[in-house]
Amino acid sequence: MGIKKIPLSTQIIAAMAIGVAWAFLQKPFPELVAFTTDWIKPLGKIFIKLLYLAAVPLVFSSLIVGMGSLKSISELKAIGKHTFLIFLATLVSATIIGLSLAYLISPGHKIEHLAVDKASAEKITALQQTESTETFTGALANIVPDNMVHALSNNTMMLQVVMVAFLLGIALSKMTGDAKEKILGALEAVQSWFTEVIHLIMALSPIGVFALVASLELNADVLLSLGLYMFTVILGLAIMLFVVYPLCFTTLSKTKYVEFFVKSRAVLLMAFSTSSSNATLPLTLNVVKEKFNVPDNISNFVVSVGATINMDGTALYKCVAVYFIAQSLGVDLTLAQMGIIILTSILSTAGAAGIPGAGMITLVIILQTVGLPAEGIVLILAPDRLLDMFRTAVNVAGDISTSLCVNGLAQREKLD
Ligand code: ASP
Repeated sequence: MGIKKIPLSTQIIAAMAIGVAWAFLQKPFPELVAFTTDWIKPLGKIFIKLLYLAAVPLVFSSLIVGMGSLKSISELKAIGKHTFLIFLATLVSATIIGLSLAYLISPGHKIEHLAVDKASAEKITALQQTESTETFTGALANIVPDNMVHALSNNTMMLQVVMVAFLLGIALSKMTGDAKEKILGALEAVQSWFTEVIHLIMALSPIGVFALVASLELNADVLLSLGLYMFTVILGLAIMLFVVYPLCFTTLSKTKYVEFFVKSRAVLLMAFSTSSSNATLPLTLNVVKEKFNVPDNISNFVVSVGATINMDGTALYKCVAVYFIAQSLGVDLTLAQMGIIILTSILSTAGAAGIPGAGMITLVIILQTVGLPAEGIVLILAPDRLLDMFRTAVNVAGDISTSLCVNGLAQREKLD
């Protein structure tokens, strides 16, 4: 059987397994470690860059086509309302699950002194400088771009891309006649063009995934000492993936439990290995449309907006992390503080970009809001790269599940 006939998800799993084996086997050999850093790591970078490269044009054209072809603004309102309600419901569930598990499992040990080395201290200062507590309208002002080209030129500004596409799409839906058809036709062509680009990039995924996993820098000893904390995060993420989402999509859509995982496994694996919702976005769109048959106007909207706003995995992780840090420092959190943690983790997650490490960067906001030292982040630095892989897979699963639910609701409304 030729390699092309092996399903993509199997190829990715094989690539991951070889990557993990490589990462461990190379350790005793400094020459091999250097080879991995100099030659293999860049291959992973190339793969992620290619995915990012296709994400903005695809989201941009897909969203405008989706909005532009809407028959009425009330259709957009219905899709928007359902999407945001489901996003909010799953985000709130994620934070409550995260905090409850952290409370029950209590993964924090009392640590008398926080040993902050120089490198970590520099990292913390940088993190503190990148984030400032903002008002809601202040944050909103940040996602409205004043320059379209600038917005489209930055992969971390997906929400700005969505804003521009929204504006152009709604304006297009109000137009009639030849000009509208021409614009729609051209953008549809761009969309299919970039879909082909994605197919080409995905053919490289086994190499890309191998390179990403093989060059992961994980220290087994440090990870073991934080085992209970990692277990709490991963357990919470598993509850979201295997219980909460299935409850949503089996009630609101016709998708079956096993069908969901079979059809989305390649996307989830891709999210896991890239640790980036934005890099996975083109594949997510593709699978939601082609495998789950969700119409363009719903899939384009839910998946593109969800890649940045709807990060249930990240919100859950932040709640566990803050609780763990508080406990490690011997701080007892009050009920009011827990409420603040839920609120700030939802808000700061919505503002985080779908890129590796974004969750940890925005964690500083929560720590500062509840009055914990930002230095606490040192405690959870080591396993963050690994946990990022798990939470990104859940973030992306949440977008797929929401697309199915919104589609299910739209179909029901049509029948009524
Ligand atoms: N890497 C995550 C994502 O792209 C965000 C995070 O760091 O939690 O979805």
